[in-house]
Amino acid sequence: MLFPICWQSRRPALFTLLLLFGLPCQTMGEAPGRKAENILVITLDGFRWQEVFGGADEVLLDEKQGGVRDLAGLKRRYWRDTAAARREALMPWLWGTVAKQGQLFGNPVRQAAARSTNGLKFSYPGYSEMFCGLADPRIDSNAKRDNPNLSVLEFLNGRPAFRDRVEAVCTWDVFPSIFRVKQSGLPVHAGWEPFKGEKLTDRERHVNELLERLPRYWPDNTFDVFTMEAAQSALERRKPRVLYVGLGETDEWGHGRRYDLYLDAAHKADRFLAQTWQSLQNMPQYKDRTALVVTTDHGRGSTRVDWTDHGKDVPGAEFVWIAVLGPNTPALGEREKVEVTQRQIAATIAALVGEDFNAASKEAAKPLPVFAE
Ligand SMILES: [Zn+2]
Repeated sequence: MLFPICWQSRRPALFTLLLLFGLPCQTMGEAPGRKAENILVITLDGFRWQEVFGGADEVLLDEKQGGVRDLAGLKRRYWRDTAAARREALMPWLWGTVAKQGQLFGNPVRQAAARSTNGLKFSYPGYSEMFCGLADPRIDSNAKRDNPNLSVLEFLNGRPAFRDRVEAVCTWDVFPSIFRVKQSGLPVHAGWEPFKGEKLTDRERHVNELLERLPRYWPDNTFDVFTMEAAQSALERRKPRVLYVGLGETDEWGHGRRYDLYLDAAHKADRFLAQTWQSLQNMPQYKDRTALVVTTDHGRGSTRVDWTDHGKDVPGAEFVWIAVLGPNTPALGEREKVEVTQRQIAATIAALVGEDFNAASKEAAKPLPVFAE
């Protein structure tokens, strides 16, 4: 076929017309220049590229190294004969929708590695690099110290079209410092914080009760379900134009050497994404006008011994992955032969909604090459 890429276009009439006028194939991407009006950013803390691109890792499907309790059940859920089938079993929405309609960076096997560049390979430096667009050596611990840098969320909140339409919901209670809320004024719902206010819905009141009753298994990090509930509440109540959802269980179960719960957490995050995306398509503000970025703050070790860990001395924990979907990004799927960095994410988030983060932060890296290839 002469133009195999173009024939997959979802705009056959326009495409035929353009062909008649002899325009090159690249100009027929998905309506160039049509930016998103909203964006959803979701992170799965410390979730490895190995599982994103290869699904369940065979060497960790055991009791000793993986800490798996119900091996037969886990295999039934996620084990398949090929890597392609395994990754789809683990994250069906990511591979069924984002990989088909958007782009996925970060598979070193395809010479498309995505790296964090901060050298520390743990959370605060990773989130700061991702949202501020640079690796700042002053960010060298997870302590609750205010970030000296402008984040893309704070930047967008200062733009006229987005003012007071930006918010974050996160399992980890360090995020108010990462987004320096005292200075930025960004609304950040974090950790084991209950819903507040006088007119709570029945569901919000119920969630608050469960927060009180459940064991605080990780004092600084709540279960993902509560952040998912906070995201849903934010979307229903305030319809933010920029919503960040920071999920944390993948990292916590990884440290706990529970490969079964680590995989389950990723699978549930994928289902949350599917359901959230579906509900957005039923809301006029969001339908066909919303971009999506899904990524992680750091990788983890790649061996049977150190897969539980990350940090500057863990080889391979600098590798991350980044999924992008938007009305102005061509459907290039799993990217090949393009290496990118975590610091490119901040400007990408802004560019997806038509804003220029590099104009506000001179040190921030340029966006990922998602728009024209
Ligand atoms: Zn960790």
